[in-house]
Amino acid sequence: MKTLWTVPLVLGMFCMANVACTADTGEDTTGGASDGDENKEVSEDELRSSLYTGSALPAKTLAWTVDDGPNGSTVEIAKYLAEEGVPATFFVLGRQVTGTSTRDSWVAKGKPGVTAAMKTVLDTVVGLPVKGSNLHHLIASHTFTHGDPMVSLTTTARQGEMRDAMTLIEPWIEGRMHLVRTPYGSWSSNVFKDLSAVSGSSTYVGNIFWNAGGDFDCVLNGSTWTCPNGAADWACWKPGKGRPAVSPEVCAQGYLNEIEGRGGKRGVVLTHDVSANSLAMTKIVIPALKAKGYTFVRLDQVPQINADLKAVGATPAPALSTPTAPPATTPACREGGVYCGGMYSKIGGEKGTLYRCVNGKISIMYHCADTCKSQPSGTPDSCRSDGVSGP
Ligand SMILES: [Zn+2]
Repeated sequence: MKTLWTVPLVLGMFCMANVACTADTGEDTTGGASDGDENKEVSEDELRSSLYTGSALPAKTLAWTVDDGPNGSTVEIAKYLAEEGVPATFFVLGRQVTGTSTRDSWVAKGKPGVTAAMKTVLDTVVGLPVKGSNLHHLIASHTFTHGDPMVSLTTTARQGEMRDAMTLIEPWIEGRMHLVRTPYGSWSSNVFKDLSAVSGSSTYVGNIFWNAGGDFDCVLNGSTWTCPNGAADWACWKPGKGRPAVSPEVCAQGYLNEIEGRGGKRGVVLTHDVSANSLAMTKIVIPALKAKGYTFVRLDQVPQINADLKAVGATPAPALSTPTAPPATTPACREGGVYCGGMYSKIGGEKGTLYRCVNGKISIMYHCADTCKSQPSGTPDSCRSDGVSGP
């Protein structure tokens, strides 16, 4: 199993009191590691830095992920995202695809395979063409049960959770991209060691963490919720005692606030497909992000994930290259005059440079201090201000 260690990591239970760790247990998941003497708290920052995220993506670039399915909303979410040109990764559960509740009950039933209904769901999700690209959604592993966090399980249980889920979803894995996200992001050196001993795990890449969507950071004032710094969809829909649920609109605003704020305007976004409210929220967040100029890549295009997938023999989509300015053309001219350069100029050349054309020969007049101002045909172009420097 390939993983990303930048610190000597031990305890890997990333769950704070108000952190979104699960969509479906509702349990207090704070603390709770049991790796014996290897247990030692590491700071949240240290833990984050040791997990795959999308922090290295260019600004305003996001990779969308959907956890805990397949569920009733999965196909609709997948269709919506495909239509919107958003290639997503669905981290699914073994218990969901087999229609069982836990790995133990699945074993007791004789390890049934993927149900016919779930085969159809998975076929549909990976078969949808993502508009404006040649990509499809990915299926990835979120383990079998989504029960206790990985760090709390025995070696045997950890390995079974991982191996059996991956084996079940193997037919829907594209390009040997065995991406892993443990429930709650639970991770430790022992978990890594145990999972690395699973047969076939040499192609696994994980643990895939996130940059936004993990923290339920909403504030209740009277009966009104606001989510100024972030939100987590699974928690938005779970009202507590005397506590109303957060609406899809307010939860969506929380996602936007986190992506634009501490998310650093880039990264991996964590959502879930357990509730139809997440579909409603997604339909609010995606257009809002697009309006702000965000674009979407698939998880395997995140630079570090891409590199490590290739390193284990998978065939990810081309890595995202940092956009570079198109090469400046060599300026050429026929009509005498003074012209601004640039890719839309009839003389070519560089943007922000003023050229003179005499007898078919071109030379630089000025590198404009600000911008070069084009004038109607017949009038010489000029730098917008007087602040210019010679060639
Ligand atoms: Zn989950």
